[in-house]
Amino acid sequence: MKIPMSSPDLDDADRQAVIDVINTPILSLGPRVVEFEKAFCAYTGAKYAVAVNSGTAGLHLCVRAAGIGAGDMVITTPFSFVASTNALLFENAVPIFVDVDPRTGNIDPQQVAQAAQDLSNGGKTAEKWLPRSGRPSGKLKALLPVDVFGQPAALEDILATARQYGLTVIEDSCEALGAEHKAKKAGTYGDFGIFAFYPNKQMTTGEGGLIISDDEAAVNLMRALRNQGRAPGDTWLSHTYLGYNYRLDEMSAAMGITQVKRLDAMLAKREQVAGWYAERLSEIPGLEIPIVVPDTTRMSWFVYVIRLAQAIDRTDLARRLEARGVPIRPYFLPIHLQPYMVERFGYREGDFPVTEDLGRRGVAVPFSGVMSEAQVEYVCEALRMEIAG
Ligand SMILES: *Cc1c(COP(=O)(O)O)cnc(C)c1O
Repeated sequence: MKIPMSSPDLDDADRQAVIDVINTPILSLGPRVVEFEKAFCAYTGAKYAVAVNSGTAGLHLCVRAAGIGAGDMVITTPFSFVASTNALLFENAVPIFVDVDPRTGNIDPQQVAQAAQDLSNGGKTAEKWLPRSGRPSGKLKALLPVDVFGQPAALEDILATARQYGLTVIEDSCEALGAEHKAKKAGTYGDFGIFAFYPNKQMTTGEGGLIISDDEAAVNLMRALRNQGRAPGDTWLSHTYLGYNYRLDEMSAAMGITQVKRLDAMLAKREQVAGWYAERLSEIPGLEIPIVVPDTTRMSWFVYVIRLAQAIDRTDLARRLEARGVPIRPYFLPIHLQPYMVERFGYREGDFPVTEDLGRRGVAVPFSGVMSEAQVEYVCEALRMEIAG
């Protein structure tokens, strides 16, 4: 048997929706994007939605709309997919990393509060949060938490810190569509919430992303920026702002409309698959299954990441599992230790020990909403044989 790492959950309605678009001449800047945005407002309860062509593009537009510029500081997590930090670097802002909660892998809210206090005061106490090189010249502007692996960050506490210090909150919910923290949806806590629709996410549009916000002025700016900086009233070749081509096309939006209709059903299937894993893997010594904390009133399973005991050689295990047709992936490799980050900011091993520990021991196993129980059984049996012998 050969098990795929992930698979999109597509049906005939999704396929027909795309075909319907390509039978018309309107492949971009058409009605589907508008309808997709409306569907997302209905799903999340947000006032506005801005569809874009990737989650990364969505994060970048939020950074622009928040007025975060060169030398400004943003508190964020080193345990994430690189896009959450890269969106800051695109504007030459400085990410200020704070280590994570060992249970969830999400940014530690107490350390966020402490960092916000110290950085707002400035001077000596601020020093310990700063990188060795590439130091900030501006002010602390925002918090950028990430809802890692589909589990919301400690959003209520993070929001309280933001209010106290007058900071914008950009919530990277690209892995947590549909999740809830204290019975409120991920992505709706901050000033901006971002979702992503790459094929391994909970729902897909091929490539795609979307921002939700209640801030009308920011939304109008983001709509202009995604369309090459054209403000309302600009002609095709007049551009009020420096913008980008971050537009989502109509085929992708059409798939998004049909996918979001089935989203809760797709999330339920993913939850069932996670349950099959938990049942089987909790009995294998040498590995830990994911922890869902009580504040997570609804988990939205994005990936299934287990932690291996220190003594297990992850690379060797991956090689042996691969031979059985079971792929696994290290998840995540810490952002601060990526080569370009080390070069720019001078980070070293040991700077964020919890992130590094999770980074060394975490592996994602094959996961999707279309996995069968037999496939899960096969993966777990392969893991049992290779780990427990
Ligand atoms: C998937 C993801 C994104 C966005 O990725 P794109 O490939 O640009 O759509 C951003 N942040 C996190 C944490 C993600 O997992």
